[in-house]
Amino acid sequence: MIDAGQAAGVGAALSRRIRRITINPIIRTLNLVRALEKQGRKFANFSVGEPDFDTPEHIQEAAIAAMRRGETRYTTSDGTAALKEAIGRKFQRENGLDYRVTELTVGAGAKQVIYNALVCTLDEGDEVIIPSPYWTTYPEVVTVCDGTPVIVPCSRSQGFKLQPEALAAAITPRTKWLILNSPCNPAGCVYSAQELRALSDVLLRHPQVMILSDDMYEHLLYDGLAFATIAQVEPNLRDRTLTVNGVSKTYAMTGWRIGYAGGPETLIKAMGTIQSQATSNPCSISQAAAVAALNGPQHIVAERTAVFEQRRDRMVDLLNQVPGFACESPRGAFYAYVDCAGLIGKRTPQGTQIDNDTTLAAYLLEYGGVALVQGAGFGCSPCLRLSYATNFEEIDEGGRRLREACALLF
Ligand code: PLP
Repeated sequence: MIDAGQAAGVGAALSRRIRRITINPIIRTLNLVRALEKQGRKFANFSVGEPDFDTPEHIQEAAIAAMRRGETRYTTSDGTAALKEAIGRKFQRENGLDYRVTELTVGAGAKQVIYNALVCTLDEGDEVIIPSPYWTTYPEVVTVCDGTPVIVPCSRSQGFKLQPEALAAAITPRTKWLILNSPCNPAGCVYSAQELRALSDVLLRHPQVMILSDDMYEHLLYDGLAFATIAQVEPNLRDRTLTVNGVSKTYAMTGWRIGYAGGPETLIKAMGTIQSQATSNPCSISQAAAVAALNGPQHIVAERTAVFEQRRDRMVDLLNQVPGFACESPRGAFYAYVDCAGLIGKRTPQGTQIDNDTTLAAYLLEYGGVALVQGAGFGCSPCLRLSYATNFEEIDEGGRRLREACALLF
């Protein structure tokens, strides 16, 4: 948020639109950690959600080969023919969804794809239903696009999942979208096909509502769970569902910036139009790399997921040893979402009152040497989100630091 002082000076030039939103708290924490690390501080860093693994070798090689072939120029605005073909095959192979080329789009990360979809569809006052806890970006992008986020709290006792009755109660004539995210960042909850079926039954009664299914963590599923996505579960919703996915998490390609979606042709075309004016096209070399990721061997994905599952177990075990923390085992993605209610109201040895999860996260960063993100950023407090997409040593060290720092609170 821009403060009043800034608004009177250079800030006066800034639009009402940008003044409505804040910098992403995850990115803010990461920037702070990087600045402090430059001063020599060392952190157990659980703030950012990106695999610590390298992008697989064959994907890197495909990028190098693309450069050597001269694929260094502008591409078709919303994705090369080769990448769309690979995406079409992926949707068919893994989700049983058939999309024509004209129903596919590629952007600079799923984040841009989501932004494109919302900017193309929201007018002032249009409502977007967002179950909370949610990925920080959803309400902010809705707001920037003149829409109204309608946050539907989902309780821990119901596994943080949207219930059909709560969905039905939240829908109004102004509802344009429902955003679903399974496996979920930050709660790690996973909707079964049966649960999606129950939500579909509500949605079928409201034809004005489109569904944005954010499937970014599709492959990060544990305990033998099977993945389900709503357009597959209820084919009658296919023509009003945008199925969003990307290569960032599945193939350890966060920096390459490739996300994609399948959806209704009119929407996909509009998304291509905004992209053609905003960024022209996603990076040509990254697109070639994404083709190799989607068409290449997939065994590495399952191998890495097995490692994430072990890390999850270690992380949850350690977190439950921290005084004042309570954490269930997440079923997917790579985040632990800890209930820290037991620490709210306590004092730090420095005399600060821990009045909410933001103060607690700041204390843990400054005095505990642990970087994590407060639940306030995800619309569900008092909680803390810790990414366990990092090595066992860091998880162990972070667990030790958290135990020590929290034991000092009184
Ligand atoms: N959706 C969810 C739920 C995410 O957590 C993220 C990234 O953290 C994204 C989308 C965006 O991914 P990218 O823009 O890297 O493709």
